[in-house]
Amino acid sequence: MLFSGRQRKSAVNPQTELYGHLLQFYGQPPLENLPLTEFETFAVERLKLLKTVENLGVSYVKLSDQYIKKLNHEIKNLNFPYRAEMDDKKSQSGLSEYEKRRKDHISHFILRLAYCQTEDLRRWFIQQEVDLFRCRFNELHPKLKLEFMHKNNLQYDPISVQEKRALQEKLVNSSYSVSGVTVEDQDFYKVPFQDALDLVRTRKVYLKAGYVYIPHQDIVTIVLNDFRTRLSKALALTARSLPAVHSDERLQPLLKHLSNAYLGQDYSIQKNVGKISLEQIDSLSGKSFPLCMRQLHQALRENHHLRHGGRMQYGLFLKGIGLSLEQALQFWRSEFIRGKVDADRFDKQYAYSIRHMFGKEGKRTDYTPYSCMKVILSNPPSQGDHHGCPFRHSDPELLKQKLQFYKVSPSGINQILELVKGMHYQLACQKYFELTHNIEDANFSLNHPNEYFLESQKTLGGGKDIKQETDTPQRSQGNNSAARNSAATQEKAAVNTSASQDCSEITEDLDSYFQDA
Ligand code: SF4
Repeated sequence: MLFSGRQRKSAVNPQTELYGHLLQFYGQPPLENLPLTEFETFAVERLKLLKTVENLGVSYVKLSDQYIKKLNHEIKNLNFPYRAEMDDKKSQSGLSEYEKRRKDHISHFILRLAYCQTEDLRRWFIQQEVDLFRCRFNELHPKLKLEFMHKNNLQYDPISVQEKRALQEKLVNSSYSVSGVTVEDQDFYKVPFQDALDLVRTRKVYLKAGYVYIPHQDIVTIVLNDFRTRLSKALALTARSLPAVHSDERLQPLLKHLSNAYLGQDYSIQKNVGKISLEQIDSLSGKSFPLCMRQLHQALRENHHLRHGGRMQYGLFLKGIGLSLEQALQFWRSEFIRGKVDADRFDKQYAYSIRHMFGKEGKRTDYTPYSCMKVILSNPPSQGDHHGCPFRHSDPELLKQKLQFYKVSPSGINQILELVKGMHYQLACQKYFELTHNIEDANFSLNHPNEYFLESQKTLGGGKDIKQETDTPQRSQGNNSAARNSAATQEKAAVNTSASQDCSEITEDLDSYFQDA
């Protein structure tokens, strides 16, 4: 694979030009031939790093000690650069600092190709790259920070001691992080105000005659803004070259695979068709459905109807867990005709859209079940709708009532509501998983409602164990068994269905299904 770029002439000495500093803005694409195996390894390892950044960002306060420690550990572990000096010394992995910086550079550009394709992907990629950059920049020695800024045309210099003394009072009053004691030891940068709009907007800096005076520790804001802007433009530009990249049949599947990886599996492949019977759905909804699907199922059973948004979200989820088209038609039909829709109207008005969902009508697109991101970010529910993510779209008081109804403990509810308050919706859902499965640590990073379902089934021990639990709860032992008992108890209390008689019908087939998945 040859990376080509307009700046060929300037790449005279890549070692000093490109990799002279630990960090870079990735302004210049790599210009070397790269074996496809290395291309793939680099991409996968950077993706792992970015996934870690994402997970740490929802599990810890960003830039807290633990966050930094864990991220630095992963950076070292995956052989990305972290040392300020560039020498030929090789680390335990056998890579020199130069090789690690090269990997950092090339892997960033590969993921740009994979993640420039849609708005969602771009947003995700920029967020993780910016968080990674922030952490790495903050770890630099002040001298290296200044060096980096100058190298990248951020020509801000510290103001003189005299100017600092003259402005001392104003600087102390306008900057949170500066006191009369520390101002003497701090460098302040004089920056045109338009380069620091975030700081001006949040009134964190002293503004005078078109310039702001930024304390050393806040200069990262400017650098990050610049990095974000450059990256965003670069991704838009890269997107334009996609048709050429897609015509390369070696790269296209690789890039598609990489871009799917941020959502994990897309659950579109129906390898489990027919492994679940319709009678099991009530039972499974209480045990293994995430809250979004549990509330849709409940609304459907109560109202015998769901509006379009709900039918799509729930219908595709059910397809993802293994309902066949025939089962789906039967499921929706039997429920709808119990309400205001007669069989004839169902066949005319609704059956088409269900066949459509399975790719049997219209453009014949085989629709994929919605990821959490999609549910959270698009098509918010309005009055009378039941779709969406309850952690994102429910009023906190209503969410609290739902959780109480599902027998989540008061302390658990508080933990969930705290996470919701911090806008960590997927983490709140993961906490709900832990509480309803009676486990300490869910040990997976939730991205998809169907992933929740599969993880739940694994935790509960698959269909076989659900059967045991229902039939003979008194035989259960140990933590896993406790989890199963807890889930079963909650199920009985929460779901107003004929679930109990269905539990015994869960077949052993589920076992192999969940192992395969
Ligand atoms: Fe559903 Fe995802 Fe929201 Fe959980 S976080 S309720 S799985 S959309």
